[in-house]
Amino acid sequence: MPLSEVPRLLMRVAPLSRESWLSYAHRMAQYNYPERPQIVQGLFREWCQTLKRRDSFHLPRQQASFDWLSHLMGLTPEQLHAMTLHRFAHIMTPPTLSHHDTLPLLTRSIPALLRNDQARYCPHCLSETAYHRLHWSHPLVTACSQHQSLLLDHCYHCRRSVSVWDVTQAICSVCGCHLSEGKGVDLSHDSLGLRAQQHLFTGLLDAREGLLPEDAVPFTAWEAYDLVVPLAQGTC
Ligand SMILES: [Zn+2]
Ligand SMILES: [Zn+2]
Repeated sequence: MPLSEVPRLLMRVAPLSRESWLSYAHRMAQYNYPERPQIVQGLFREWCQTLKRRDSFHLPRQQASFDWLSHLMGLTPEQLHAMTLHRFAHIMTPPTLSHHDTLPLLTRSIPALLRNDQARYCPHCLSETAYHRLHWSHPLVTACSQHQSLLLDHCYHCRRSVSVWDVTQAICSVCGCHLSEGKGVDLSHDSLGLRAQQHLFTGLLDAREGLLPEDAVPFTAWEAYDLVVPLAQGTC
């Protein structure tokens, strides 16, 4: 089926800064089909079944899926790729598996990313704008360097784990409380830990786009050594 015959969602919302693909898809679905947002994933499943394809809405791997989904959402395939967990491929996949002319995809053998039903979030970020940030899905990103607090990985009220969908709405689907009212552990005293989060993860993720913070101060060798030791010991 040519792309011109593929349905396209009529109402568009702009992707937000570092928004994850699922967060964006949820917001688009909610905006276009407020009564039945799940219809959008259903459209993708139907298309896969019609063409006897197997691919994932959450983490597509086939070029045709990138083309189809990006057309549906009014994005370019590159924009879609940048919102998915494949964004982490260049730091989690051995370079020999990547190719200069293609966008890197995560291999199936890397299980380390957080599950969509066990999402993390910064309540302060959610109180500013409710959506799920892509970097919260990276297992080593554990703090919000902007708000200097530990990310939460559960509902502060009922203690259940929360999904990307819950975080995107900033509401716990179990107890209905507002996730933006949670309290993250204050890390303002831990300057080294915060710098580690900012430099190693957020900065690293953005480095290829030239978005490394201008005020980034390189670690001293001693600071870097302090950071790597716990990693080797498996304590962080
Ligand atoms: Zn935050
Ligand atoms: Zn709850």
